Parts: sequence; C-alpha cells; structure tokens
Amino acid sequence: MTDTKAAFTLDDTFTAAEAAALVDRLRATFRTDRTRPLAWRRQQLTRLRDLLTDNRAAIADALYADLRKNRAEVDAMEIGTTITEIDDYLEHLEEWTAPQPAPVTVPGVPGSTARTQFDPLGVALVISAWNYPINLLLVPVAGALAAGNSVVIKPAEYAAHTSALLAELLPAYLDTDATTVVEGGAAETTVLLELHFDHIFYTGNGTVGRIVMTAAAKNLTPVALELGGKSPVFVDRDTDIATVAQRLAQTKFANAGQTCVAPDYVLTDPDTAAELQAALAVAIKGLFGEDPQSSDAYGRIINERHFDRLSALLGSGRTVTGGQTDRADTYVAPTVLADVRPDEPVMREEIFGPILPILTVADLDEAIAFINDRDKPLALYAFTENDTKRRLAAETSSGGLNFGLPMHHLAVPTLPFGGVGESGMGNYHGRYSIETFSHRKAVLDVPLSRNVH
Ligand code: NAD
Repeated sequence: MTDTKAAFTLDDTFTAAEAAALVDRLRATFRTDRTRPLAWRRQQLTRLRDLLTDNRAAIADALYADLRKNRAEVDAMEIGTTITEIDDYLEHLEEWTAPQPAPVTVPGVPGSTARTQFDPLGVALVISAWNYPINLLLVPVAGALAAGNSVVIKPAEYAAHTSALLAELLPAYLDTDATTVVEGGAAETTVLLELHFDHIFYTGNGTVGRIVMTAAAKNLTPVALELGGKSPVFVDRDTDIATVAQRLAQTKFANAGQTCVAPDYVLTDPDTAAELQAALAVAIKGLFGEDPQSSDAYGRIINERHFDRLSALLGSGRTVTGGQTDRADTYVAPTVLADVRPDEPVMREEIFGPILPILTVADLDEAIAFINDRDKPLALYAFTENDTKRRLAAETSSGGLNFGLPMHHLAVPTLPFGGVGESGMGNYHGRYSIETFSHRKAVLDVPLSRNVH
C-alpha cells in the first residue's frame, strides 16, 4: 500500500500527487472489503464516540477560541448531537443496513426472490463548514463509516483551532488506512476535487456548492449539498407573543446567529409586529443580560470579513434593540430591525448572523406569496395554532417545516435533514445518512429449475 499521511495539516504541502496517493490508499483499503463488515463499522463508530467523550475539554477550548461558544452549547449542539447520531447507528446498524425483501409481483419470473441491498459506495469526501465544525463534520463522517465507506475528511479552515484539533485526534482514533484528514481551504479542496470520489458530501454556501457539483459531474460522482438560505418565520395573530419571542430569540441568537437553519426574518401583521418587537427586547435581555458582550452565553462572529458583511446589513430598517458592534472583538449585538422593506440589503442575502428583521404582511396569503416568490429555504417556521399549519405545509416548499420551535427538527434523527432547490439536495441523519452513502442495489434471483416465459 502507498505510504501517505493519515492527516495533512496546514504545515504540509498538499500536492496533486499526494492527494491522488491518499485516495488510492483509501480505495485500496475499500477494495480489500475491510470496511464492509458491520463489526468494523461498529468499531469505527465507537472510536469516534470515544474521541468525543475523551476530549470534551479540548473540544470546548477549541470552539471557544474559534467562536466563543460556551460550554453548554458545545455539550448540547456539537458533542451531544453527534453522540446521539452515533448511538443511533450503533443501535440500528443491522436493521438499517439489512437487505430489504421486495415482493415479486410481475408474471414471468416464477419462484423468484427480490431484494434491495445497501452497497457502500467506496471513497467518500466530506467537506464541512465552520459554524458547527464538530457536528457538521463528524455527523456525515459517522454516516459514511456506518454505510461502510472509506472517507477523506476536510474540516472547515475558518474554525482553525477545531480543524487543527481534529487533524490531531481523528488519526489517533480511526482506522488510518480507511480515513484521512486534509486540513485547508479553497486551494486544498480544489486539489481534492480533481480526483475521483464515489460520493461528495458538501456543507456550505451555494457558490461553492456549484463548484463542487461541477467537479463531481466530471466523474458522475453523486453529491449531497447541504446549503443555506433565508429561512422565514411566520407569526400568526393571536399567538402567545412572549413565548414566541422567547423561542425566536433562543434559536436566532444561538451561536450569534451563525446557524444554517437560524430564523432569518419574520413575517407578521403590523399589530403583531409591534407586540413582537417589544417582547423580543425583553427575551434578549433575559437570555444575555443588559450587556450581551459581557455574557458568557453569547458568541462572536467567526472573522472580520463576516463582521464587516454583517455591519453593513445593520443599516436596513429601524433598529428596535441591539445594533452595537465591536470589530476588535468581532462582536455584533443581538439585533432586531423593524419596518424593513423587502428590497433592503438585509433581505438580499442570507444573514447568517445575529440580526433579525421583521417585515409586515397583510395576511397569510401575502406571507405565502412572499415565501414562494423567493428561493426555496432550508427551513420554514411558523408560530400558529390553526389551519395556517395545513396551508403552509400544502402551499410552500422548503427543506424542513417546523411549527413552534425553530431549528429543533434537525435534532430529531428520525427525520431527514437537507434542503431543496437553492438550499441544497440530498439529506442525512440517522437511516437517511446510510441511504445517502450507499447504493441501493436491486437484486433479483430467478431459480434455474423453473420455466420462465
Ligand atoms: P466555509 O467558508 O467553511 O466553506 C465550506 C467549505 O467549503 C469549507 O470546507 C471550505 O474549505 C470549502 N471551500 C471554500 N471555498 C472553496 C472553493 N473555492 N472550492 C472548494 N471548496 C471550497 O463555509 P460557508 O460557505 O461560509 O458556510 C456558510 C454557508 O453554509 C451558509 O449559507 C449556511 O447556511 C450554510 N450551511 C449549511 C448547513 C446545512 O447543514 N445545510 C450547515 C452549515 C452551514
């Protein structure tokens, strides 16, 4: 087997020849059938789980350095969610990978049996984003391993401390003949994308998503693109506004708004908008105190480029609460903007930060038209208790639809997670990850002893 590294860090040169050698090595391992047995998959999943539980403190330190994530958020949304996924695979691996018998209902093949068999694809490439740099990397990696693949693991370079830690830890825990970490950014990923993979799983923005899909097309490689977009929130009349504001603030401002499924903007009628503005100011104070910059519970913007981008969006509408910034600390206060018009800068791109615009609509019809006039979002949220639920489900398209508590649909591993249209393609979590990283092979077995017509 070719001698290549188990991890390429930023100190290494990463040439096309080295990249090709590492993929060859992983493919050679795959061809030995080492990754196929469920015992190997279980062992790898267990080791990945061990990595998380053995290194909780180091992971929390890295995430604090990258994003000032607080310990509770790291435990719940990075380590906890990833362990839940791994435990799910460990519990259901046999069931989810078992061949599925199919009834043979057509004439002409008497006595036949048929089944769908889940075949691992080969060498998968997993490219992750920086905002949840543990979860967004290791959940798909766990899915790829559970499905019996070799994996090239590309952490997100902006979360530099977490990336370096993973480059050190992953080779110490996983089978290095079947997995390799490649640290780096666009340059290193471009080198990787020249190669033939059997699956590419990409999380990030749509511009790079197109680059990934174009590269994959050369080899007819299947892709999953987990992208973003502006996820709207519809707030109905006559809802309990204090509860709505509390749940909105809690989800919108987690990780300083840098969450792919964060509520992006609110649509509601003018009376409810006025009530909601006041209630959000109270909810934000309850979560982060008078000065969120000194609160341990509040994060920071990943870098100055994103800080500058967000600062420019603060000019839209009228600031109801927040609006303060500190570039040296990459701090943007939890901010609510009212009276925002649809043509203002904050409504022209995914916000991906702690700014919540409120727009007014006359009624549900206008809200549905507003949503359908724009790209299909990764998530659609609504706070309502009536027929509005049925209408939103029937009359709009989005990656996920969630009533009552934004973002939490992605923490339910029995649901597929993914986008549609501009928010992405393909999905994962739980058994859906096994399907994504497998080929569903049709197997028909016709006995030789029977006459066929
Ligand atoms: P990012 O900058 O970390 O980029 C993502 C990955 O793309 C990185 O690993 C990076 O190295 C790689 N990359 C960057 N430029 C490249 C190039 N030219 N060629 C090849 N690879 C390249 O993350 P981002 O794009 O800023 O992430 C934010 C976006 O991702 C938002 O739109 C957000 O909604 C979306 N997102 C989606 C999900 C999801 O699960 N659907 C999760 C997180 C983030």
